[in-house]
Amino acid sequence: MTKSYISLTEIKSAIAKGEITVEKLVRGYLNKISVNAHLNAFNEVFETEALIFAQKIDLRIKQGVAGKLAGMVIAIKDNICYKGHKATASSKILKNFTSVYSSTVVERMVAEDAIIIGRCNCDEFGMGAANENSYFGPVKNHADQTKVAGGSSGGSAVAVQAGMCHAALGTDTGGSVRQPASFCGLVGMKPTYGRISRHGIIAYASSFDQVGTITRSVEDAALLLEVISGPDEYDSTLSSTEVPSFSNNIKATSPKKIAYLQEALSSPGVDPEVKSNLIQYIEKLRAEGHIVKPIAFEYLEYLVPAYYILAMAEASSNLSRYDGVHFGYRSPNSTDLVSTYKRSRSEGFGKEVKRRIMLGTFVLSAGYYDAYFAKAQKVRRLIRERTDAILKEYDFILIPTAPEPAFAIGKVEKDPVVTYLSDIFTVQASLTGAPAISLPTGNNSKGLPLGLQLLTRHFEEQELLNFSKYFLEL
Ligand code: GLN
Repeated sequence: MTKSYISLTEIKSAIAKGEITVEKLVRGYLNKISVNAHLNAFNEVFETEALIFAQKIDLRIKQGVAGKLAGMVIAIKDNICYKGHKATASSKILKNFTSVYSSTVVERMVAEDAIIIGRCNCDEFGMGAANENSYFGPVKNHADQTKVAGGSSGGSAVAVQAGMCHAALGTDTGGSVRQPASFCGLVGMKPTYGRISRHGIIAYASSFDQVGTITRSVEDAALLLEVISGPDEYDSTLSSTEVPSFSNNIKATSPKKIAYLQEALSSPGVDPEVKSNLIQYIEKLRAEGHIVKPIAFEYLEYLVPAYYILAMAEASSNLSRYDGVHFGYRSPNSTDLVSTYKRSRSEGFGKEVKRRIMLGTFVLSAGYYDAYFAKAQKVRRLIRERTDAILKEYDFILIPTAPEPAFAIGKVEKDPVVTYLSDIFTVQASLTGAPAISLPTGNNSKGLPLGLQLLTRHFEEQELLNFSKYFLEL
């Protein structure tokens, strides 16, 4: 049995003391993966390869030439490309697709001696919040197997939660790293839009998509972030803002001004234990000398509609590339070009993906563009301006990550809008591009993890990480 380490620093010191080797660590994770196969967290495990790399890295450690991430065993969401490995985005349409190049994030991690142990289950193309929209079936929460893992990076979160790897990468378009992290009791960070390259990430909604980290500690989030961030010639949306050495700079914070959303406590849609968890932390922070004040956010009810109109529009455009001709699934029942398009897409995409392609196409269509797409863009701008104004006055916005803890698998919602509304607290950071982190804040009375989220100004991840570390020790 391998111990469950909280941070890479702990692993490194155990290696230095001769208590463990990278190879033993990998064997331990592989064992957990097979014991927990029923959780359905992985779409594929790179077993042989991970063991070969582990031996090489043990050697490099002995020789004193190992990289920053030596000893870090990572799982990646199955929409992150790794050369020579399959990448399916948990869709039938990409079931047999093999990446011809690696994403920048994978390249940078591997260059620092991280080991990629496998690719994780997720909602198809990242579309969902429960990991129930996967062609490969739902992921189960390790805290309670009748409950969802959260989504869309549910497999990544459960892989870390159940000790099947040390950390994981997910992608966060509207909350897909933060919400599963909160459902699984972990730290989930979505950095500023423009911090991390999207090169080699299977696109869902390009103006929102951002890679994020799922870890047990804030230190590891900092370390991974500094390795994977920064300019990349393959992604022109990246900022040239300098990437600090986040992990070395984590330090104590001074008293802060924190705003919390009044509606999070007054809305009947928020679970009572989520509310009391928030109240508990507000009181702790006040007792520590921070200024914590309620604010009203007048665009609250527009967050979810604006997000979904824009995300679906972008998705309908991004997913037009899956046509049964260039790559991916081709229907064996097609007879000519048009039927190849129609049948391959009809048979290859799942129900939720089709719904979004149709709605996205609708909001972009000539007659409705102004009424929906252009309007939503304007609303996005207002939300950004108001959020920036709040963050001028306050250092952080504190809100729950999700309105309720992990819910039952199969709790089929007839109305998809009800499901979409549960993204209310995560999409603000996505619409504005602000960095946000979900932190584990204990369990509810049924033993299910709860999480709270902190948002801050663009490119101020260092402050966010510093405060998060302190917050977890409150
Ligand atoms: N639940 C949101 C959606 O379905 C967010 C998903 C994500 O961040 N990938 O779009």
